Amino acid sequence: MSVRKILTIGDETLSKKSHPVTRFDERLHALLDDMIETMKDSDGAGLAAVQVGILRRAIVIDVGEGLIELINPEIISQEGSQYGAEGCLSVPGKHGNVERPMTVTFKAQDRYGEEYTKTVTGLFARCVCHECDHLDGKLYVEIADDIKDNE
Ligand code: ZN
Repeated sequence: MSVRKILTIGDETLSKKSHPVTRFDERLHALLDDMIETMKDSDGAGLAAVQVGILRRAIVIDVGEGLIELINPEIISQEGSQYGAEGCLSVPGKHGNVERPMTVTFKAQDRYGEEYTKTVTGLFARCVCHECDHLDGKLYVEIADDIKDNE
């Protein structure tokens, strides 16, 4: 496992759409392991593969409720709304307020290709939306009301 370099805003790769994962092989597992280590190294709550320069629909999330891997995720329903601060490892030193659904149900595959469905709320839901946006080449700064420097 190794910590990979995180691309930052201005790098055009971050605005590209990621492709579906089709092979659930050792290469994917190595990528996921590296993504987990990279996320932890930067104290992040989530990381999408595109942030380390790999245009594949793979995400790792850990908001303190256990580590989870989302391959080819798809949000199938959402409910309510929440408004609050968001940050991104690809936009270092900044944060901004973003409106997100309070509850999100998504389906995804695990690293072995097994499909699962999960419903999450609060920060977990915010994180899922944020990371899924990355897969479509979108950064939160495009939808945030105001971007401020971290204190
Ligand atoms: Zn991000």
